[in-house]
Amino acid sequence: MKKVVKFGGSSLADAKQFKKVADIIHADETRRYVVPSAPGKRFGNDTKVTDMLIATYELAAKGEDIHKKILDIKARYDEIITGLNLDFSLDQDFVEIEEELKKNPDQDFAASRGEYLNGKIMAKYLGYTFIDSKEVIFFDEEGGLNSYKTNKVLKEKLDELEHAVIPGFYGCSKDGRVKTFSRGGSDITGSIVAGACHADVYENWTDVSGFLVADPRIIDNPAGIKTLTYRELRELSYMGASVLHEDAIFPVRSAGIPINIKNTNAPEDEGTWIVESTGQKPEFTITGIAGKKGFCAVDVTKSLMNSEIGFGRKVLQAFEESGINFEHMPSGIDTMTVVVNQDEFLSKEQSIVSTIHRLAKPDSVEIESDLALIAVVGRGMRSTRGTAGRIFSALSHARVNVRMIDQGSSELNIIIGVENDDFDVAVKAIYDIFVETQF
Ligand code: ASP
Repeated sequence: MKKVVKFGGSSLADAKQFKKVADIIHADETRRYVVPSAPGKRFGNDTKVTDMLIATYELAAKGEDIHKKILDIKARYDEIITGLNLDFSLDQDFVEIEEELKKNPDQDFAASRGEYLNGKIMAKYLGYTFIDSKEVIFFDEEGGLNSYKTNKVLKEKLDELEHAVIPGFYGCSKDGRVKTFSRGGSDITGSIVAGACHADVYENWTDVSGFLVADPRIIDNPAGIKTLTYRELRELSYMGASVLHEDAIFPVRSAGIPINIKNTNAPEDEGTWIVESTGQKPEFTITGIAGKKGFCAVDVTKSLMNSEIGFGRKVLQAFEESGINFEHMPSGIDTMTVVVNQDEFLSKEQSIVSTIHRLAKPDSVEIESDLALIAVVGRGMRSTRGTAGRIFSALSHARVNVRMIDQGSSELNIIIGVENDDFDVAVKAIYDIFVETQF
């Protein structure tokens, strides 16, 4: 049995948190490879070290003095080192980082140092080997992960070591420079390490006990999700549930490795298991509810549209030419609706409308703004009669007007469009009918 454990920024924000993390690692000898984030927030309005580093880079890029900023960041690490009673110093690292940023300001290099330095402390504290991720994680020319090279080099390295610390969030670009993933990317590193060493489990430790059925900002103390499939996770995180970086599932998914989301502050909680497939029935028919505000629906109408070959393509081409991604596309006999992100769309609205007219010659194009989309996700819906009926009667009782419905044939989710102002009420109504009432 072999586990890869990734700890997020709040799990490593100070010495107290580091101690909890070490206890967790030592409690299970199969927890062999450790992927740390940079120190996160210690309290509500604290600043993450990664943000401090990016701000330092911005000053350096303008040619301004960064010494004070470097000292502030160093103080964060020194506080951890002292709190852990370590005979260890990062003084030389900070001299080198400051010099490098003055000489050659680079945002990715700056941002990556948060994980790099935290990894060094963690390795020293645990007595494990430190592996610089720049030596084992590689990007290709397009900036994507070079999985082949990464897996090969990383596997060889890990095969030599019983335990190791591999800092999250960065690797090496094609031209040999430090390159980071997008924000929150240590989750991806953990997944890559788990995939490369064929771990049995990828444990992702954070400050919540896994995924919740609905957003706790809308629902008071919502129920947790025990098991989630990769596909359900994709749907939920795309629609705003943000416990894990969206791209973190790919390396483990292709290797069939489950992810266990765990809480550093409540390690005994089971957390959420994310698996390829499961025979376990979700507790509440639906697995989760997620959603976002701020969409526009562009309704394109044309008589006899149903028999015109290529109509849909022409409409979508108008969006493509303006570089606008579409989210959903429910359609009727003579209408099709293209749902897009409102902020992106509004800046290009008129040119898109005129391109639709030029290419597709519709009877009319109408735009509805301020829509919210709610995704009700669940593998259990396929085998349960009446799920849609329950959702819509709950919404109607809550006096929410449904503006759009989209259900994929996979029956893994139902997407419901409501007005932005009805968003919270709608989520509550759906949550209540499945989780509270459970008739
Ligand atoms: N430290 C980076 C961030 O704040 C990466 C991570 O924590 O996963 O985005």
